[in-house]
Amino acid sequence: MTRYIDVTDLSRLVARKGLTTCLEEMAEYIRQDYLRWNDFEKCARVANHSPDGVIELMPASDANLYAFKYVNGHPKNTHRGMLTVMAFGALGDVDTGKPLLLSEMTLTTAMRTAATSALAARYLARPDSRSMALIGNGSQSEFQAIAFHTLLGIEEIRLYDLDPQASAKLAANLAAYPGIRLVIAGSVAEAVRGADIITTVTADKAYATILTPEMIEPGMHLNAVGGDCPGKTELHRDIVERARVIVEYEPQSRIEGEIQQMPADSPVTEFWQVVNGEIAGRENAAQVTLFDSVGFAIEDYSALRYVLDVAKALDIGSEIGLVPDLKNPKDLYALLQPAVADVQKRRA
Ligand code: NAD
Repeated sequence: MTRYIDVTDLSRLVARKGLTTCLEEMAEYIRQDYLRWNDFEKCARVANHSPDGVIELMPASDANLYAFKYVNGHPKNTHRGMLTVMAFGALGDVDTGKPLLLSEMTLTTAMRTAATSALAARYLARPDSRSMALIGNGSQSEFQAIAFHTLLGIEEIRLYDLDPQASAKLAANLAAYPGIRLVIAGSVAEAVRGADIITTVTADKAYATILTPEMIEPGMHLNAVGGDCPGKTELHRDIVERARVIVEYEPQSRIEGEIQQMPADSPVTEFWQVVNGEIAGRENAAQVTLFDSVGFAIEDYSALRYVLDVAKALDIGSEIGLVPDLKNPKDLYALLQPAVADVQKRRA
């Protein structure tokens, strides 16, 4: 049998553990897996593009587990009453190929993205960082805000979105959140002025320049989350050129990240090298660091591994017959017989 976690199950799982605990523990699963970078079989995700969006398949495996995620990105969806990003995924046993878990991954992606962003900022932001500008206040934004508060101690978050109702929603959702002070700004420039960290998490299928060079101050850390597809960026090229750039998996980021604007040999460091201490993250307090996030399959592998462990421990989800379980493994045909007999009986 395969464990099945739907959206309601995942919401219950998060409610039982607490979102902050989930973010902390998921970040640790992700860190542990980045430490084992060379154990993984990796590839850039397979992306099928259409005029208004993209559907992607993201596989990763080690000697024990195989993971994949199906995820879309359709920035115009919210105008149709649908989410911009929706996802589901699976974990399989490498020895046998048996699917162990089929799970919702829309909420899980928001958590794993926020956990990864905050984890990266632990290595890249100045340790005394206390304020963050959060540009783009849609579905991912609460998760980013809570992860940065929980994992980094961010206390003040300045919000800006082209859609004032999105900022009002975020402010209302986190109004009673202990320890986070929220300020709604009137422009990107106002939000980012003096901030220690800037997170951009907007959705638009365009070469956008949400951040321009004059907005960037020495020592800032930039967490660029929304530029994650060919032709979809958030930062002016000059910012990318001057910053210390950290990416997840270079072959994928060259196609999808902010660095798609740069020459193919522009200097970048992969995050796993920073996590294992091979290469420094931030080199000095005045440096501008950029986590050019696009989302990598190992983060989904870690997130699914976490969801399965917690679901088992808390007995959440159901067991479904996703693949046949046979007495005689060479007799797949036998599986049809009870149903065929039933149909014939009804006809008789
Ligand atoms: P969403 O549609 O719910 O929210 C996006 C928000 O951005 C909207 O409120 C919109 O009004 C705002 N926006 C668009 N253009 C803007 C601009 N120029 N200035 C200010 N605000 C602007 O989408 P979401 O689910 O929150 O996702 C946000 C982005 O993050 C998407 O681009 C998505 O593809 C990306 N994403 C990346 C990762 C990753 O791992 N890097 C993971 C998940 C989502």
